[in-house]
Amino acid sequence: MMNDSSSNIIDRTTLLGEFREIITGLRHYLEEEKGRGFAGWPRAASPPLEKETSSPAIKPSPSPSSLETIRAELEDCRRCKLHSGRTQIVFGVGHPLAKLVFVGEAPGRDEDLQGEPFVGQAGQLLTRIIQAIQLKREEVYIANIIKCRPPGNRNPEPDEIMACEPFLIKQLQVIRPKLICALGTFAAQTLLKTEEKISSLRGKFHEYQGISLMPTYHPAYLLRNPNRKREVWEDMKKIKREYDKL
Ligand code: URA
Repeated sequence: MMNDSSSNIIDRTTLLGEFREIITGLRHYLEEEKGRGFAGWPRAASPPLEKETSSPAIKPSPSPSSLETIRAELEDCRRCKLHSGRTQIVFGVGHPLAKLVFVGEAPGRDEDLQGEPFVGQAGQLLTRIIQAIQLKREEVYIANIIKCRPPGNRNPEPDEIMACEPFLIKQLQVIRPKLICALGTFAAQTLLKTEEKISSLRGKFHEYQGISLMPTYHPAYLLRNPNRKREVWEDMKKIKREYDKL
C-alpha cells in the first residue's frame, strides 16, 4: 500500500504530465493557426465613439480580427467590376498600429503593378511629405478608398466604393489611428460623406468616427500645381502638432 507522500508524488507527476500535454497541444494548435495566417489577437475592443456623425459607424469588430484576417477575407476579391482589369489587390501598407493613417483614392498603374499604395511619382512625393514631418513611411499606415485600379485611372464609381469601403473601415477598426489624413477631393468627400470642395475642407480637422481627420490636397494634384505645396505644408504641420501630443 502507498503512503500519503508517495501518492502525492504520483498525483503531482500525473498532473505535471497532463499539464505538459495541454501545453504541447496548445503549442501545436497555435503553430497550425500561424500557418493559416493567424498573427495574434488584436488589442481590446475599440473605445466608445465620442460623437454621432453622418459617416459610416466604425463599430468594434464583432469577432477578433487582424489586418491579415481582413486581407484573407478579401481573397481574390470579385465584389465589383474592377477585379477584371487589375493586376493585384492593393491592400495597404505600414505600421499595423499606426497613430496616423493616410487615405488616398485608388491604386494607379505603378501601385497596381507593385501591390503597394503610393509608390509612383505621387507616392514618392507623399513619402517626402511624411519625412518632412519627421516620420517614416513604416511608422504610418497608407491605404486607399478603393483597392483595385480603375481603368485609365478614372474616378471610382459608387458601386465600387460600396463594395470596397467596408474593408477600409475594418482596417481602421483594427489599426485604431488617432489621426487620418485624407488625400484629395475623392478621399475627403467619401470619408466625410460631403460634396464640399477640398479647398474649403482642407486646413481644419474634421471628425470621422471619433478620429481627427485632416483633408489636404492629393500629391498628384501637387505635382501639377506646385504652388499649392505651401497649403499642404500648413496642413501637415497641424497634423504633426497633434501627433506629437499623442
Ligand atoms: N493615388 C492614390 O490615390 N493612391 C495611390 O495609391 C496612388 C496614387
